[in-house]
Amino acid sequence: MRTPIIAGNWKMNNTIDEARGLVSGLIPLIGENHADVVLAPPFTALYVVSEMLSGSNIKLAAQDIFWEDRGAYTGEVSPIMLKDIGCSYVIIGHSERRQYFAEDDESVNRKIKAALRHRLIPIVCIGETLKEREGGKTLNVIERELTAGLNGISGDDIVIAYEPIWAIGTGKTATPEQANEVHIFIRKWFRDNYGEDYSRKIRIQYGGSVTPENIDSLMAQPEIDGVLVGGASLKVESFVRIVNFKVM
Ligand code: PEP
Repeated sequence: MRTPIIAGNWKMNNTIDEARGLVSGLIPLIGENHADVVLAPPFTALYVVSEMLSGSNIKLAAQDIFWEDRGAYTGEVSPIMLKDIGCSYVIIGHSERRQYFAEDDESVNRKIKAALRHRLIPIVCIGETLKEREGGKTLNVIERELTAGLNGISGDDIVIAYEPIWAIGTGKTATPEQANEVHIFIRKWFRDNYGEDYSRKIRIQYGGSVTPENIDSLMAQPEIDGVLVGGASLKVESFVRIVNFKVM
C-alpha cells in the first residue's frame, strides 16, 4: 500500500510574514493524516517554515537544487544547504524551470543524483506540452524524460510528479482518466526498467490545476498516489481540503 503524498509548491510567492501566516493556519488543521504532507516554500522562507514545522508531521521541500556541494556557483543552493535547513524533499525539473531557465533532462539527472547523495527525496516533474499531446507524443515525451532523467539511478526513494504542462496554472485539469492513463504508462515503465517490486512502491503524483473541487475524483484513480499543488496551496482552506481528500 502506497502512502499518498500531497505537496504544495508555493512557487515565487510569500514573504516571510506571509509564509508565517499560511503555516500557522495550516499546522493546527493538518495533524495525523492519511497522507504525507509536504510544503515547498521559496528559498527565502525555508528557514522560518522549517522552524515552524519542527514537531509537526508536515515535511519541508525546496523548489530546486544545484548539483555541486559547494563552490563558485553564484546564486545556486546546494544539497548540503537544503539538508542543513531541514528539507526532506526537493522538487526537480518543474516545467517552469525547464521552460524559463533552460533546464533539460541532463541537468535534471545531475540534480536528482545530487539530492539522492544527500538523502533528499526528489520529486521529479515530467509532462508534455499541449502541442505534444495534440500531436500524439505524450507517451514518447514521458518515456524520454524518464529514461534520460533517471539515467544511472537505481532503486532509490523518488517521487514522480506527472504534470501535463498545459494544465499547470491554466485552470485546465487533465481528466482523472487522462491522468490515470499516463500514470499506468509510468508505472509500467518502472516495472520494465526497475522490476515489479519497485514499480509497486514508487509514488506517482498528478499536478496541474488541482483544486478542492477535483481532488476527490483524482485521488479515486488507482494509479494516482497524490498531487503536487501550485495555486491552491497558497490558501489555508483550499490546501487543507486537498490534504483531507475523500476516498470515493
Ligand atoms: C505546480 O506548480 O506544480 C502546479 C501544478 O501548479 P497549479 O496547481 O497552479 O496548476
